[in-house]
Amino acid sequence: MTADGTANDAGIVYLVGAGPGDPGLITVRGRELIASCDAVVYDALANPALYADTRATLHDVGKRGGSTDSTRQDEINGLLVRLARAGKRIVRLKGGDPFVFGRGSEEAQALAAAGVPFEVVPGVTAGIAAPAYAGIPVTHRGVATSVTFVTGHEDPAKGAPTVDWSALARAGGTLVLYMGVRSLGRIVATLRGAGMPPDTPAAAVQWGTRADQRTLVATLSTLEDRVEKAGLEAPVIFVIGRVVALRDEILWLERRPLFGWRVLVTRAQSPRSSLAQALTEAGAEVVEAPATRIEPLDPGCVRGTIAHLDAYDWIVFTSQNGVELFWAALRDGGLDARALAALRVAAVGPATASSLLDRGIAVDVTPERFVAEGVLEALAERDDVSGRRVLYVAAEGARDVLPNGLTAMGARVDVAPLYRSVPDESGAEAIRAFAAGATERTLAAFTSASAVRAFAGAAGEAKSRIAAASIGPATTAAAREAGLTVRVEAAQSTIPSLVEAIVAYGMSRTNEHAR
Ligand code: SAH
Repeated sequence: MTADGTANDAGIVYLVGAGPGDPGLITVRGRELIASCDAVVYDALANPALYADTRATLHDVGKRGGSTDSTRQDEINGLLVRLARAGKRIVRLKGGDPFVFGRGSEEAQALAAAGVPFEVVPGVTAGIAAPAYAGIPVTHRGVATSVTFVTGHEDPAKGAPTVDWSALARAGGTLVLYMGVRSLGRIVATLRGAGMPPDTPAAAVQWGTRADQRTLVATLSTLEDRVEKAGLEAPVIFVIGRVVALRDEILWLERRPLFGWRVLVTRAQSPRSSLAQALTEAGAEVVEAPATRIEPLDPGCVRGTIAHLDAYDWIVFTSQNGVELFWAALRDGGLDARALAALRVAAVGPATASSLLDRGIAVDVTPERFVAEGVLEALAERDDVSGRRVLYVAAEGARDVLPNGLTAMGARVDVAPLYRSVPDESGAEAIRAFAAGATERTLAAFTSASAVRAFAGAAGEAKSRIAAASIGPATTAAAREAGLTVRVEAAQSTIPSLVEAIVAYGMSRTNEHAR
């Protein structure tokens, strides 16, 4: 230990709140720590998506069924101390907030006693987030000026002071009850006995903030019966108080078209794709998993081509990756955008065109259909393709629709392969878990044939249960070939069009269900 209480080269434990379920509700600090730590020690309630990408060693210490077994807690404390003493940086990831009914404070006590440094990273607690996602504010001016978080599950071993339910019944604010499914009947009876009006609005939110969030609204007198009939089991947050009535006005998530859907989005490299973003905004729970990664090929292979770009009349780009790596190859050859000054430029779609524009090149041709066939259609209408030389910037193993079509038009085509797409093993576990947990309301969205193949490889047998959404015909063909059932295909091969098609499909399925 140094004088300021930090240990040299010693381990440290970060007690991190994972948030209530929606992986977007972890703090920035929490996410940074998961990405950079050596070990993650997690509970059952922490969303696996949060540690799916980490390189840290994983330790599952989930205490399912709300066990209060203190030996288990001792083991967890022991594990934390042991790992820290071995010099590890450990994230102790706990559902919601670590200090709200999560025994995080007991772990902090054990760490303090053992002289192990620690840091606390608060989280969004379920008692606030689950109601919020159900359209229930826990306070509201003129309706509730206080809120009490209370556990329905006291640790008998603690000999702790029991909850003064009568005082809570009289307090008049909002009551938020954690871990209360089993003791609900007793609690409701006590509250009523203490004078809380039987028509006090009450709600139960199960699996709040996740795709399978279920909300049930009742009154104090009907709550227990409704919960039992609906078969709600933990984890459930109960909200008792007049704020529940605001749900009629404030309900938001459950009104969104993809509410209740879980959609897997495969991604190549970008941290949060625009596809994931748009689907989240449409109400879906999005599971992001890397399926493929881009492996640049040796730029040496295209050095000769790059040095003689003036030999070409046209250059065709079919992806943003292609643009990026072509520019890397240009720089490698001591060149920049001016090397394209005399060439006409075609891009497969708006995203590729915008990547080019970012680099100072306004494209001459973007097709109406954003697929290779569309590029051919657009070029077929021009009189300056036949007899000319075309450079096609491509992924290794790309379909030969473009070179063949251009050759048929009388052009002379060279292909410059700059990268290949390879399966990214780091996403395999997340894909397997997603496929195994597939339900009626599960979709996997694909934007490339290589992502389809990587997904199918990782999902194994469970892939047959997955409904696929595809960005266009080539991806659809690859999905069918890989044994997936394609339910959705985008009308145009763009992300917005794919989102639109998924939303339409989700709504039609949801309506079918409602009928
Ligand atoms: N530290 C956690 C609470 C742990 S106690 C937090 O701050 O949220 C476990 C209880 O939390 C569950 O029994 C349930 O009452 C509640 N809970 C946790 N996540 C929940 C969720 N997504 N939806 C509803 N209740 C949840």
